[in-house]
Amino acid sequence: MMRPDIRSILLLVFVLCASLLAGCLQMPDASFNKARQGRLELAAIPFGTPKKVSLDGEWKFYWNRLIEPDRIDTQSPDALVQVPSTWDKITMEGATPGGLGYATYALQVTNIPVGQTLALEVPTILTAYKLWINGNLVSSVGEVGTSPEAASPNRKAITIPFVADQPELNLVIQVSNYSNNHGGIWQSLWLGDSEALLARKQIRISLEMFLAGALFIMAVYHSGLWLIRRNDKSSLYFGLYCFFISSRGLFIGETLYIVLLPRFPWDSSIRIEFLCFYMSVTFALRFLRSLYPSECSEIVVKWVTRISVIFSLITLALPPPIFTNWLVYYQIVTVISVLYAVFVFALACYRRREGSLICAAGGIVLAATVINDILFQHGYAKSENLVMLGLFSFVLAQSIILSKKFSKAFTSSEELAQNLMVLNNTLEEKVKERTSDLEKLNTILESQSLADALTGIPNRRHFTLAASRSWTEAQEKQACLAILLMDIDHFKSYNDTHGHLMGDACLQKVAACIQESALASGGHAFRYGGEEFAVILPGRSLEQAMLCAESMAQRVCSLEIEHLTSSTASYITISCGVAVLNAGAPGTYRSLEELLQQADEALYRAKHAGRNRVSV
Ligand code: GH3
Ligand code: MG
Ligand code: MG
Repeated sequence: MMRPDIRSILLLVFVLCASLLAGCLQMPDASFNKARQGRLELAAIPFGTPKKVSLDGEWKFYWNRLIEPDRIDTQSPDALVQVPSTWDKITMEGATPGGLGYATYALQVTNIPVGQTLALEVPTILTAYKLWINGNLVSSVGEVGTSPEAASPNRKAITIPFVADQPELNLVIQVSNYSNNHGGIWQSLWLGDSEALLARKQIRISLEMFLAGALFIMAVYHSGLWLIRRNDKSSLYFGLYCFFISSRGLFIGETLYIVLLPRFPWDSSIRIEFLCFYMSVTFALRFLRSLYPSECSEIVVKWVTRISVIFSLITLALPPPIFTNWLVYYQIVTVISVLYAVFVFALACYRRREGSLICAAGGIVLAATVINDILFQHGYAKSENLVMLGLFSFVLAQSIILSKKFSKAFTSSEELAQNLMVLNNTLEEKVKERTSDLEKLNTILESQSLADALTGIPNRRHFTLAASRSWTEAQEKQACLAILLMDIDHFKSYNDTHGHLMGDACLQKVAACIQESALASGGHAFRYGGEEFAVILPGRSLEQAMLCAESMAQRVCSLEIEHLTSSTASYITISCGVAVLNAGAPGTYRSLEELLQQADEALYRAKHAGRNRVSV
């Protein structure tokens, strides 16, 4: 189980507060009488708590008649109807009058406390009305008329304070509707202490303003986040969803848009309200999918989006009486979406997805308020539109999740930055370490590439480098440089007679011997080829070089490596060619190649002269 953290507890506290607040707004009136036959006797004078009573019950109903208050007593009503209820639910002589038309409602309230300042709370009425209290016209919203042309709709929730000057209160309300599929008084009227009712209205306006403002700020904030960081669409969906519900909030309940834009046409206002509703459901689902992509199906989201687009187009293209009639179908889609969202939350909780518990808490509050509102709008629940509260708690839960997500991202980026800094600091040291390792390796490789594998003395490559260096030095110093080329005599037959392994051993011995001798003479020996060696003797004259060469040949001889098939001696012998550069003297060699060529020719001559000798 996920351990509840401080944020979950805060959320729970918020949800409890919200429910309490909702409860306060919805003060019970169970202890009061209901109107009967168009009369309501106030049983208790509304001084204590609650300081208001609803005027629910049977009102006199005059269908297709707009009657002034002074003539109301002379006419008999067509029916006694339940208020609140839309008139398409009424049956008169076995038939319902339908949603469109006009009518007069009348109610007499008795036992009014004379002299007290009271107030009448009038909700929005569908879709235009005129209200008289004791014969005085106190409120007129929209234009009441007997035809669609004469009538014009509007909506405004108002609270009318008045001083009761007689113990009866005669209410006459003329209502006409040609704009909505439902008409009439669909919400309760309330009578009560003026101060209490006005305060209540104030609270409601403040709360709605607060919710709309808070949601709008969230919309701006999250859309802004998306503008900066476009790879995460959840901020965008969340921002749009907040935007649509905050906008819709202006058109329902206390209808705040009237305060901001008194002349805003009813027709546009109802279209905006409906569009906001369709869009908010769509973006809520899209957001849900972006949060839980493996729990929330893309197909469901796509279909809800398609349906919402169709309903939006209908809302834009068709007149209000038609598209308001279609609302009920979209409400079915909404209920299904809400149930699906509950399923997604449950699945996310089950799979222990991040923030799923908080999300589910907010979602359940929202689902409850959505279902409450739909029931309320259809007259099945005596309540109020609570969806804004539900949405706010849902949005709050979401923003907790989003901020969690962001703070997590920040923490990990901070960690990364720190790691990077540490890495940067140690980088220089690491580079030094690696460089020295590489240098060591390089030296080893170089020495390996310059040494002969079999004899261990420097190889031909090394000879080329050393010879050219010595050549340059000799030229600079105008000094001598002697090159000796040596070749073991009859080595092929040695191999043939003594075997290749013995041949190798022989090569090693001869190489060591020549090298020792060369070093002793201030020079260097190299393995020049198969059984050929070269010696560089810097600063040696021809005579000195001859002596060195002879001494080397002698020393090889004195190794006494037995050679059974040599026609020269019974031991291994070498032949040697000597060439010496005298850089200070005229007419000497022009290049190293020429010098080497000369040494090679001298070796050739030594071989031809019978081997085991030195030649120049
Ligand atoms: P010459 O007196 O005219 O120099 O006759 P040679 O037999 O010494 O010369 P030749 O060039 O005909 O033969 C050189 C031989 O050296 C042939 C080859 O088998 C042998 N040889 C070359 N490198 C190696 C080696 O690394 N190990 C062994 N065992 N033999 C080698
Ligand atoms: Mg040879
Ligand atoms: Mg040889």
